[in-house]
Amino acid sequence: MPLGMRVWEKIYKVIDEEMKAIGCQKLVVPTLHPIEIWKATNRDRAFGEEMLVVADHHGATFAIGATAEGVMLELVKMFRPSYKDLPILIYQFSQKFRDDKRPRGGIMRVREFMMKDAYSFAASEKQALEVYWKFYQAYLRIAKRLDLPVIPVEADSGAIGGALSHEFQLESPDGDQTFFVCDKCGYAANIEKAEFARTPINPQEKERTLRIIPQPEWVCSMEDNVKHYKEPLWRYLKNVVYKDERGKIYIASLRGDQNVSETKLRRVLKVETLTPASEKDLEKIGTKPGYVHSWGIKGVTYIGDLGLPMVKNYIGGQKEKLTDSINVNYGRDFSYKILADIAEAKDGDLCARCKKGHLRQKTGFEWGHCFKLDFVYSKPQNGYFTDKSGKQKLLWMGSYGIGIERTMACLVEAHHDRRGIVWPKVVAPFQAHLINLKTQMSNVKSKSKTHLANGQVSNLFAEEVYRKLTEAGVEVLYDDREDVSAGEKFADADLIGCPVRLVVSEKTGEKIEWKERAKKKTELLTLAQIIEKLAHG
Ligand SMILES: [Zn+2]
Repeated sequence: MPLGMRVWEKIYKVIDEEMKAIGCQKLVVPTLHPIEIWKATNRDRAFGEEMLVVADHHGATFAIGATAEGVMLELVKMFRPSYKDLPILIYQFSQKFRDDKRPRGGIMRVREFMMKDAYSFAASEKQALEVYWKFYQAYLRIAKRLDLPVIPVEADSGAIGGALSHEFQLESPDGDQTFFVCDKCGYAANIEKAEFARTPINPQEKERTLRIIPQPEWVCSMEDNVKHYKEPLWRYLKNVVYKDERGKIYIASLRGDQNVSETKLRRVLKVETLTPASEKDLEKIGTKPGYVHSWGIKGVTYIGDLGLPMVKNYIGGQKEKLTDSINVNYGRDFSYKILADIAEAKDGDLCARCKKGHLRQKTGFEWGHCFKLDFVYSKPQNGYFTDKSGKQKLLWMGSYGIGIERTMACLVEAHHDRRGIVWPKVVAPFQAHLINLKTQMSNVKSKSKTHLANGQVSNLFAEEVYRKLTEAGVEVLYDDREDVSAGEKFADADLIGCPVRLVVSEKTGEKIEWKERAKKKTELLTLAQIIEKLAHG
């Protein structure tokens, strides 16, 4: 809508300027991408149902651009780049389409949106990293200029893939993303990535002899165990069974107080998809839900979390109908070929970086994202450049995205109160919201000639204020509506959220009432003072 569009254009301008400032060149590629480009990197599978697909009347299939790494690479390949051309930094602003399964209200998560997507092509890892941090810094500058208090958070690369990645998160209790920040060193990572240190939980205990003991049949889940043994969650062994895209079965084993991070597990196992095993899958490997053993099942791959060796004398691991094992010790009674970081971090976990601070769990909205992609696209798409010795080498890629509508939503999230939006100056649709209260007076009391005269005088004055401010280059929204009460006009001004409200009324006389949206205080100023503050302040 018109007011939003003005905000939209200002956000666009800030992003555009900061991209140009780091030597990034603007262009635009088509929205319809030949599906073959997406298939070459299996992105069609990774994006899955979120990708919109159309066919033309020749029967050719196109993906409607959700992101453009593949197409941008094809473009760069056409120029047969040499090391002398690198790094190449390009960006576009273009409409993106995603058949999002969980579209949210408003403009935070939508199916169609404008995104600034930038791409970098480098000749070496060193150059790729230099470029990556350039974008990272540019994103921080954009956020600063927009007055958007974001936190850069290490992230998993997800469907895009790659080696290094940062999300820029806006902390909010309503956020749909979970991330952690160390309270000592500031290490920040999202839930799919956050690394935490595992420390011994009960080092004072001596390893006891493994025993098989009777156990009631009803004890199956973690809650059942707690109810029956009255020991804390970390005391039990937990096994979660998954199946990958080829049907291979994995048993992820961890402490009862930990949860499997499927993203971490996928990364360690180097598989594309993991789905929880069905009862049928369990039947095939000779077990059933609640009865999965921590060791001894044939034809599966066991993988354990780094936290397993941190507990002595586990309960569980060999459950049968009326028995289970106790005093189970990792390394003595069972061990795995793969022990890795496969558990989700929790609030209060020890930071893996400084090993002093603790991770604090936060929620937020993802505003922007940087990916160091390396060869994720250039390898399957044969994206090469010619190096100094004339050899063909793979291009090092990166990609960097910011959605404009999402930026608007984040700004509103960060700058609002009970009464409406409090736009930062830099993106406000107008700098001043001028309200003329006498227009209304003149109508209400139209029978009284004196009041009518007053109203007309104030109309002239309000119009003069509007004209003079506009001439001085100040963007003014002039509320000259008749038949609208003062209260309604004030409420609308608060809702729209321009930084300054100016009121001309009988009460203010020759002066104008000045009130900043974010403050309570009002003051009476002359037009000259207001022009000084708004045009030069
Ligand atoms: Zn730390």
